[in-house]
Amino acid sequence: MSELMNRQIVLKSRPHGEPTTENFALVETAMRQPGEGEVLRRTIYLSLDPYMRGRMSDGPSYASPAALNEAMPGGTVSKVVYSRNPAFAEGDFVLGYDGWQEYGLSDGQELRTLDPVLAPISYALGVMGMPGMTAYFALLDIGKPKEGETVVVSAAAGAVGSIVGQIAKIKGCRAVGLAGTDEKCRVVTEDLGFDACINYKTQELDSALKQTCPNGIDIYYDNVAGPILAAVLGHINLGARIPLVGLISQYNATTPPIGPNLVALLIKRAQIRGFLVTDCMHRYAEFASEMGTWLRTRKLRYRESIVDGLENSPTAFMGLFTGENTGKLLVRVSQDPTV
Ligand code: NDP
Repeated sequence: MSELMNRQIVLKSRPHGEPTTENFALVETAMRQPGEGEVLRRTIYLSLDPYMRGRMSDGPSYASPAALNEAMPGGTVSKVVYSRNPAFAEGDFVLGYDGWQEYGLSDGQELRTLDPVLAPISYALGVMGMPGMTAYFALLDIGKPKEGETVVVSAAAGAVGSIVGQIAKIKGCRAVGLAGTDEKCRVVTEDLGFDACINYKTQELDSALKQTCPNGIDIYYDNVAGPILAAVLGHINLGARIPLVGLISQYNATTPPIGPNLVALLIKRAQIRGFLVTDCMHRYAEFASEMGTWLRTRKLRYRESIVDGLENSPTAFMGLFTGENTGKLLVRVSQDPTV
């Protein structure tokens, strides 16, 4: 095999507060030759996810920090370009964890082959992958939605939130989203079928929640924490459930946040429970079967925000914190031959 150059976005320094382009560098290195049993693949899509902000820091966390001067880790969908492993053929599409780089090389143990006939290959990083599983299991296992209940979800136009509200509708609930622009709220209600959406940046939260949730809130699917959680607690019903899934409003904080008044949890005998999607990975088949059916029968719709070019990954990632994306944020590193 002729020598290949690999472009990578590496973490140059750990951000303090909001990440900036100064924290990253584009480097070019020569790929080593694939050894016996190894698979070389070229990245088509790389996933950008809020949890990556945590990995950029070296404070205590459930995930180990990303190494400095190495490609930022993350989920990828790639095409096998050379294989010395009988389990993979050139041209196969695979889900892997190659990170922010053009090529990945390993013995392939961590790879899963994708069938482009079943679903667009990019879906493996979104609705049929980690964000979809997060929406599905945290809502159904912790939220336990019942017909007629009201489900509120924050970051409702994002990868996870957009699916949560649609599953709530499938389960016969009233779905109310919170999002950061009027256009996102339009997508959430008109395209995705939520009953209502609050623009949390322009509307007064307390009165907007009162108006959109006249029967109170039975489930609050929390993707953001902070002031939205504080406002929602004032409207929860007796026995409410709160899957605590994300705290994006705090990921760039440099001082400890001032927390909400949790006394509402006590008075309403509500349950708030933390969720990590990694606990549910062994239940992938159950998830894929039901989510696949909902997509095929158009009960559930899926959106992506795709940015072109590996070099644009840092700026696109920063956009997660300013709300640039609607739906799952991906970077297209090379052409997708299936579309
Ligand atoms: P999204 O696609 O939803 O992107 C993030 C969105 O969050 C932005 O578009 C923005 O939308 C919104 N946002 C950013 N800052 C704030 C803020 N200060 N207050 C309110 N909203 C804000 O990301 P994902 O769907 O991938 O992730 C959503 C959440 O779920 C994250 O917190 C993530 O960490 C968490 N998560 C947790 C997992 C687990 O296992 N526990 C697994 C996967 C995700 P807007 O314009 O509406 O502000």
